[in-house]
Amino acid sequence: MSDLEIRNRLWIHNEWRDAHSGRRFPTVNPATEEVITTVSEAGEADIGDAVASASEAFRSKAWRRMSAHRRSQLLWRLADLIEANADELGRLETMDNGKPYFESRKVDLTSVIETFRYFAGLADKIQGETIPVSGPFLNYTLREPVGVVGCIVPWNFPLNLASWKVAPALACGNTVVLKPAEQTPLTAIRLGELAAEAGFPPGVLNVVPGFGETAGAALVRHPDVDAISFTGSVEVGRTVMREAAGTLKKVSLELGGKSPNVIFADADVPAAIRGAAMGIYYGKGEVCAAGSRILVERSVYDEVVEGLVGRAGKMTIGDPMTDGTRLGAVVSEQQLDRVMNYIRLGVEEGATLAAGGERRTVDGKGYFVEATVFSDVDSQMTIAQEEIFGPVAAVIPFDDADHAIEIANDTIFGLAAGVWTRDIGKAHRVAGEIKAGTVWINTYNQYDAAAPFGGYKSSGFGRDLGLQSALDKYTQTKCVWVPLDG
Ligand code: ADP
Repeated sequence: MSDLEIRNRLWIHNEWRDAHSGRRFPTVNPATEEVITTVSEAGEADIGDAVASASEAFRSKAWRRMSAHRRSQLLWRLADLIEANADELGRLETMDNGKPYFESRKVDLTSVIETFRYFAGLADKIQGETIPVSGPFLNYTLREPVGVVGCIVPWNFPLNLASWKVAPALACGNTVVLKPAEQTPLTAIRLGELAAEAGFPPGVLNVVPGFGETAGAALVRHPDVDAISFTGSVEVGRTVMREAAGTLKKVSLELGGKSPNVIFADADVPAAIRGAAMGIYYGKGEVCAAGSRILVERSVYDEVVEGLVGRAGKMTIGDPMTDGTRLGAVVSEQQLDRVMNYIRLGVEEGATLAAGGERRTVDGKGYFVEATVFSDVDSQMTIAQEEIFGPVAAVIPFDDADHAIEIANDTIFGLAAGVWTRDIGKAHRVAGEIKAGTVWINTYNQYDAAAPFGGYKSSGFGRDLGLQSALDKYTQTKCVWVPLDG
């Protein structure tokens, strides 16, 4: 049997399992339209098994009494195993998602490994406080794990976003049930197997591929799941929050964005054009923080549009496994239709299609979309308001800093933003006034395991990455009182 005939099942209690229903679903390579393999489809009963395994592991001495130092070692060992298998994981990610291998292997995998190592370092540094209260008491706090954490992740950065949740959750002593997106389950399944090889006891990390409305919803509703850490769309985020209310779980949501990239006339304009193009075209624009609204001061508007059109033309479409490919396939046929529909709407609503706009194939196959630039976009147009999640830039003119801030905030979202100017006072003022969880000044799309990432407004709440966010999300505080007299 080939690897993918084994590594296409549920990973529960450190074992391969078929779904109780026996059902399987295909996972498709969007660049070739071929079925890579069929994967066991977790239903409610399988989610029940995975949660039971995680609950048992959470109570077990093997995990509860494991020293923090040992937990740290296991996380570090898992990072080493991911590194040793990074070529294979990168290939799997590219097959499942359609992104160029360079992005999977050099960017995503590097981040995954760093994330596990960063949180390996946190595991043995989690501590409480002693608090000087009134009266003869010793008062101190303990930072305890929350329990069973359900992690639900989307298809755009399958392993990377899984690591953003799994690594801190395990570092803090929780156990995890991870549900990958139905479009991209393969690297998450492999992560479960590698965690067992690293020495994590059975049940500490379970991986349950399946669909959102069934497997995902069952995880959110399950009474023995103590927290849900979700990344995905606003619509599903609302459902998750509503459904989690029944059992009052701790919820954190990292949702979509319509991030503004604001270019002032006093910026290093060529650098801003490069940054803005990378901000929207990297990862096919299937990036929560994609700089999909490019706001440009009027005096340099034409220059920036022309520059973006030039950059869009250089986003070579091709086989994602080939070196020169800059733009891979969008993740699925459904996503292709969605992106093409937004492009039609942009034209219908009166924006100027300055570059791209067409579906493409490679050797007659695949869901590719050209890097697209819309100019003369008004902030009220659909392509300026809704998250497209594709390589489509909406370029909007502005008059001055106040006008730029007004347009930048004219959205339900608040995930990220970029500001390009040489005036440092203006840069910091605008960064301060844009309602977004991350602001990049004279750069874009920078991430680090140590830097918290998450949204304002409808982009959600709670932060991934960073030390404090991990403690906030994956631990709870117990306050202990001890009388000292007598
Ligand atoms: P996207 O638009 O990026 O596909 P979704 O929000 O649809 O994002 O999906 C993100 C993740 O949420 C996926 O793993 C998906 O299976 C899961 N999901 C979808 N619907 C639900 C639901 N009702 N409850 C829980 N999880 C869900």
